[in-house]
Amino acid sequence: MNVDKLNFPTDVINAVREVVGSGFIPLHEPEFNGNEIQYLKECIQSTFVSSIGEFVNKFEASIIEYTGAKYCIATVNGTSALHIALLMAGVTTGTEVLLSPLTFVATPNSIVYCGAEPHFVDVAQDDLGIDPVKLRKYLEEITVFNNGQCINKKSRKKISALVIMHTFGNPSKIDDIVDVLNFFNIALVEDAAESLGSFYKGKHTGRFGIAGALSFNGNKIITTGGGGAIITDNEVIAKKARHLTTTAKLPHSWEYIHDEVGFNYRMPNLNAALGLAQIELLEQSIIKKRALHKSYKIAFTGIDGLTLIEEAADTMSNYWLNTIILDKENQSYLEPILEIATKNKLFLRPAWKPMHELEPYSNCQRMNLDMVNSLSKRVINLPSSPNLFTY
Ligand SMILES: *Cc1c(COP(=O)(O)O)cnc(C)c1O
Repeated sequence: MNVDKLNFPTDVINAVREVVGSGFIPLHEPEFNGNEIQYLKECIQSTFVSSIGEFVNKFEASIIEYTGAKYCIATVNGTSALHIALLMAGVTTGTEVLLSPLTFVATPNSIVYCGAEPHFVDVAQDDLGIDPVKLRKYLEEITVFNNGQCINKKSRKKISALVIMHTFGNPSKIDDIVDVLNFFNIALVEDAAESLGSFYKGKHTGRFGIAGALSFNGNKIITTGGGGAIITDNEVIAKKARHLTTTAKLPHSWEYIHDEVGFNYRMPNLNAALGLAQIELLEQSIIKKRALHKSYKIAFTGIDGLTLIEEAADTMSNYWLNTIILDKENQSYLEPILEIATKNKLFLRPAWKPMHELEPYSNCQRMNLDMVNSLSKRVINLPSSPNLFTY
């Protein structure tokens, strides 16, 4: 099928409608068709609704079982999980942390919570994750080694870590990025907030660095209302992270002794009860989302001028948010497409405004961000609720 350019926006909308059907279609809706109400009732009846209780332990155990990580620490949200994961990687005041500007504001915010400075690097178009080739070249240009530490020549600051974010559930090019980081002695932290259920070479995302952060916000693949988790394979890191998320309180039957400045980041039992029911549905939800992706693939097959993002070989995506990227020639169609969709009560969404365009991050250091700048005018998320797939 050859598409008349004038009809391009309506062709895109029609392709989406072909998959999702008629009526009001949100971007991502949670599903509660398991044991949610039963577990919440049990939780309330137990009176342990707050920071101590069996549901938090069970929820952590089920995350461990699903991801294969050795340790899991449930937190109040994904942002707090990322904050602690960065601290565990040695991100401290006066250092710099590399990240892509194509992310949710929680990523740079959590870097600043550590007293560090976000430093932006460009992405690759195929997976919307950090481009390892550009990264290596950039670090070769701007850094020197000093006592084995990677120092930014211009700012004279240490580059302490890099955050990989698996955008919309698509695993980034982890091995190639890790190669670069090993060479430059930079720690890896993963913002796996969007990628619960996404695997890279058979290993769950979030398990490749010192620690990974998950999110269970209402728009994510499973939800605890609000919530997050730190996952790690390192016992020392796990103990330290648990200590920090629970106000750094030493175990004692009655005394309140806190041996450092900790955080009140522990996930409440009530949220974990919801999460336990949700994680029981995760496998099923991913099957539905992958099937939904296949339907999008078929619907968009005949439409020239755009690309539907697909998982790379050796990776498995949870397809949290299906995403199309308009060809450069078609970027002027972004607004018309979003306008028609809005009138149509169909939730299509552009990518986030890139972080370096936000006021608090407008002066941060960066490499040439050509790809991010271009993609931010061409990326569209498609409705991706699991219930959109009908057998
Ligand atoms: C959702 C999300 C987070 C964490 O968000 P919370 O609302 O704090 O759970 C962090 N990074 C990215 C990229 C996200 O999408």
